[in-house]
Amino acid sequence: MKQKALEFLDENKEKLVRLVSDMVKIPSVSGDEAKLAAFLNEYCSELGFRCEIDRHGNFFAYIRGTKPGKRLIFNSHLDTVEAGDGWDEDPYSGRIEDDRIFGRGSTDCKAAIGAQIMAVLAVMHAGGDFAGEVCLMYPVEEEVQNVSRKGTYKSLMDGFRGDMAVNGEDTDLRLCLACEGMLEVKITTHGIGAHGATPYKGKNAIKMMCRVIDELENITPGVNKYTGSGSINPGVIAGGSRSSVVPDTCVLKCSRFTVPGETGRLFMDQIEAIFAKLKKEYPDFRAEAELTYDSNPSIVDENEAIVKAVVRAHEHIGKDCPLYGTPQHDDADFLTNIAHIPTVIYGPGTGFLAHMPNEYVLISETEEAAKVYALTILEALK
Ligand SMILES: [Zn+2]
Repeated sequence: MKQKALEFLDENKEKLVRLVSDMVKIPSVSGDEAKLAAFLNEYCSELGFRCEIDRHGNFFAYIRGTKPGKRLIFNSHLDTVEAGDGWDEDPYSGRIEDDRIFGRGSTDCKAAIGAQIMAVLAVMHAGGDFAGEVCLMYPVEEEVQNVSRKGTYKSLMDGFRGDMAVNGEDTDLRLCLACEGMLEVKITTHGIGAHGATPYKGKNAIKMMCRVIDELENITPGVNKYTGSGSINPGVIAGGSRSSVVPDTCVLKCSRFTVPGETGRLFMDQIEAIFAKLKKEYPDFRAEAELTYDSNPSIVDENEAIVKAVVRAHEHIGKDCPLYGTPQHDDADFLTNIAHIPTVIYGPGTGFLAHMPNEYVLISETEEAAKVYALTILEALK
């Protein structure tokens, strides 16, 4: 059956390339995914999959095997970031040249979606003899920096569940067992305004913030075996109105990428400790902090069935399967932390091309991903 599925994929390479290219031609920037969802609804219905678009706009397709069993979720996302500037061509060309498909969303993540759909089709063509159900889950607004708007989060809060999941993201065909969480903290320092010629009459809020930033440097981010070290990035700063006035407020937005075990609460406690220290040193120091974005890291145990299934799938096509973690934040967070679904992240495409002009995905990698996804179904739902 494995052989039959792989042969089907070899015979239908062009169908996969066309599917990915056609999806790239449908712009689907976050908040504007309805057209792509409708396209997939029609495409997958014609293939015989039971399809649904839920009240949030998330697309689902369900494919049953011949026996009852577990539900394997193939998750990715419908949306992309904006095209942005710097393109050498139409960002939605879906142009195919040599081993590449060009366009916004090709690598992140329409190649993964195409490969997953073709993988299911191949397994069904080979007889569909597996135990349980595959669910394709393509949510809206994954790229939005607001947890409560993310489609995967919403569906899980509605009660959607499964037994194991593959989060299709651009991992270069490496098996990713962990992703970092992302936090954003807004820090405000409060001083006293005064004429710049008599600064001793005021308290300079920008200078206070400089001390906070110095102290942030002293926090050592956690380390994880797969993701490596977390990181802290003071990213946006604003304060003062003109150079001749002592600024009375300064605002800093600081992101932190967390490794498994680290939380938003931990970072806030560390910031409060910085404030307490600075208050001791400078009695006039006044500041407050607010956690404005709070998403968690994810991790899956190496012994989980879904991990073993992807590793075996790789072995079958004669490829070794490096295990790693990604510094990005992915929907694997919600699948593991809200629903406790063991989730790996795996797909074609390269992270450094995502969100960039002239984004493309390698066709050969996409074809290989389809094979690994197909074999994963047969391994995980034996
Ligand atoms: Zn993505």
